[in-house]
Amino acid sequence: MRKEHPWLYAESIRSLSREGASGDLAVIFDRKRKLLALGLFDPDSPIRIRVLHRGGPRAIDREFFAERLREAAGARAHLAAEGTSAHRVANGESDGLPGLVVDRYERTIVLKLYTAAWQPHLGEVLAAVDEVLAPERVVLRLARAIATPFSERSGIRDGDVLTGAPLAGPVVFRERGLALRCDPARGQKTGFFLDQRDNRARVAELARGKSVLDAFSYTGGFGLSAARGGATRVLSLDASRVALEEARANFALNRGHPAVASCAHETAHGDAFDELARLGAAGRRFDLIVLDPPALARTQADVAGALRAYARLAELGARLLADGADFVMASCSARIGANELAAAVHAGSARAGRRLRELERSAHACDHPVRFPEGAYLKCLFLRAE
Ligand code: SAH
Repeated sequence: MRKEHPWLYAESIRSLSREGASGDLAVIFDRKRKLLALGLFDPDSPIRIRVLHRGGPRAIDREFFAERLREAAGARAHLAAEGTSAHRVANGESDGLPGLVVDRYERTIVLKLYTAAWQPHLGEVLAAVDEVLAPERVVLRLARAIATPFSERSGIRDGDVLTGAPLAGPVVFRERGLALRCDPARGQKTGFFLDQRDNRARVAELARGKSVLDAFSYTGGFGLSAARGGATRVLSLDASRVALEEARANFALNRGHPAVASCAHETAHGDAFDELARLGAAGRRFDLIVLDPPALARTQADVAGALRAYARLAELGARLLADGADFVMASCSARIGANELAAAVHAGSARAGRRLRELERSAHACDHPVRFPEGAYLKCLFLRAE
């Protein structure tokens, strides 16, 4: 097994003492029968074992999970001081809880499972969450790949409230002092894109006095941060009407901030490729453009097409840039690296006759530590039109 790597693929296992069931604890030995690690057995995934613990014997129980949660929560304690009440408490593999994400929105905790192997341990995980995080409720979310078989086996569906009070409308949380609504039961990811928090903060710093286009806006996070940072106008563009309604609600919720109240907010509904072209044809220009599309390459076979799509977006976006404008391009495709993304962006903007100078590159927010290569999915490029 690769040192420190949290996954064991089926083909790297030489022998099994018996066929395991989903969620069984696997005890991993090397060729010399030395105990190496304990992990969660998952017969339904090519990632056959996810490592929970390395080294000598150890009980995997409520206390084990509580310890992991305490450690992870302790590393995020500083976020509350900056007016942020939603964050990733535990980032799966990188916090020693492989295939399990724990997010906090105020006092609502969301558990998101990426493997059904957590099912037999859910009771103990919930007890640990109660003890360490004292939530008002715990919502369960299921990754798309496991949702149907998990629900058939357990009777628990994606979005179910497992403990505590049922959800009565959106949960309102704070990000750097801004109020934001989210739906932890049905929203994307666990309700909000917490991974972009630091990049939204950077956009707020860049936004003073600017007209901003926030494309793929979801519920308005980047645009609202820009407004708070002093943007004069923000256009939120998304293909989802529900997301745009939420973006409007989020702007309304923050009218108490003079900068937000004085920012003109518009929304545009439609496919971003069409809408960006339409804005260009209408002669619109912006001083700051954020493009944060969904993962365009979900499998290796999608990579070439996705790079063409990023280049096309950069081309369409570059046509809308005022001189000296800032351009922010994010990619959450794990299979596309920052260099490839940058190359696609430069190729696309060149087709629009614009040269972009790269100012900086960034990645996930600080509460999304990444301790293994496959965990690094988010790239964000900050560029400026010359
Ligand atoms: N920037 C957001 C997260 C974006 S998630 C934030 O910081 O919170 C990606 C968004 O792209 C989703 O809201 C989805 O509805 C939207 N989307 C997906 N395909 C699209 C398309 N072709 N055109 C416009 N929006 C699209």
